[in-house]
Amino acid sequence: MLNIEILGGVGEYGRNCFYIEKEGRAILLDCGVMNNPQKTLPNLTEAHVAKLEAVFISHSHIDHVGAIPLLEKWGYNGPIIMSDMTAQQLKMTFSNISIFHPESIGEWIFVNKDVAYQWGYSGHLIGSVWYKIRFWGKMLFYSGDYVTDSYLLKATLPVADGTIYDVAFIDSGHVEKQINNFQTLQQIMEYISVHPQQPFIFPSSFSGKTVDIAAYLHQHTQRTLHIDQDLISLIEQYEKASENLLPTKGILPSFKQQCQTKSADIYFVPDRNASELLELLQKIPKAIVIFTGYWQKDNYKMMLSKTEYKEFFYKTHPDYQDILMLSKKIHAQTTIYFHSSFTNRETTLLQLLKNKKA
Ligand SMILES: [Zn+2]
Ligand SMILES: [Zn+2]
Repeated sequence: MLNIEILGGVGEYGRNCFYIEKEGRAILLDCGVMNNPQKTLPNLTEAHVAKLEAVFISHSHIDHVGAIPLLEKWGYNGPIIMSDMTAQQLKMTFSNISIFHPESIGEWIFVNKDVAYQWGYSGHLIGSVWYKIRFWGKMLFYSGDYVTDSYLLKATLPVADGTIYDVAFIDSGHVEKQINNFQTLQQIMEYISVHPQQPFIFPSSFSGKTVDIAAYLHQHTQRTLHIDQDLISLIEQYEKASENLLPTKGILPSFKQQCQTKSADIYFVPDRNASELLELLQKIPKAIVIFTGYWQKDNYKMMLSKTEYKEFFYKTHPDYQDILMLSKKIHAQTTIYFHSSFTNRETTLLQLLKNKKA
């Protein structure tokens, strides 16, 4: 029997950390903190860490990696497995990182004789992956954070080879929504084109979404883009990881060149830095701010009282239909829906289908 302990990330948005044990030997899927000012830790203990043989990291966002220092503190010295791109994005260095490279996609990689894994792209961020894990004769699937329809990034699933999964962990981050990312891109584009005199500001995250939107606007408008230095480093990774991209990457060299021009009128600024946004708004008070995901209205209220803003939702997680599709394709005996306050440990596919009819 598998002992599965949810240490965070189910019934909440953040601190993803899943502990799976069989007969005293265990693995961990992600090791994140809450993305709040306190950076709330997952419920990981020294006793958990003592049994770990491997830690699988899906991508570099803080809600998946922020608690890795706890592993070191408690003397974990097994591998912390992640893609080479994820390792490059980490803000901290760790001694036990075990990276895999693009060439190993779809192959079984052995941690020891009882633990092996395959990986594939999850479309959420460059270098973000899913895992198919063989653990003591059991089969697991971990989607990581998943985007089915990124404009630039590939998203794959394990080869349908008749594998019966004992447990699947499926990202249900946007379960309350139904969004077509391509339509969102077109809507943003149309809105910008009917406001030819107006500058735009996109508060942006370090994510596939930001590059998708910027690349699309680059291809479809004559307006110049200015992308903050932090986010430029993200775009640079696209040039090094063509295998992670859908075959549209030909646009990238000219894209990067244009992003660095100074006389810009579409701005991408980091969404965590409210003061940078405020400064920019003072410089260009005519600008319209475009929000493309969940955002804290209260945090921005003050600065937005005098200006206009608009919302266009672009997925960084699966929406309702995507979750059904992923659940059906993986078809595990038990599925655990994570990354949302709308799902919990008891949520089943049947229940999701029922909600649709309601
Ligand atoms: Zn993420
Ligand atoms: Zn996440």
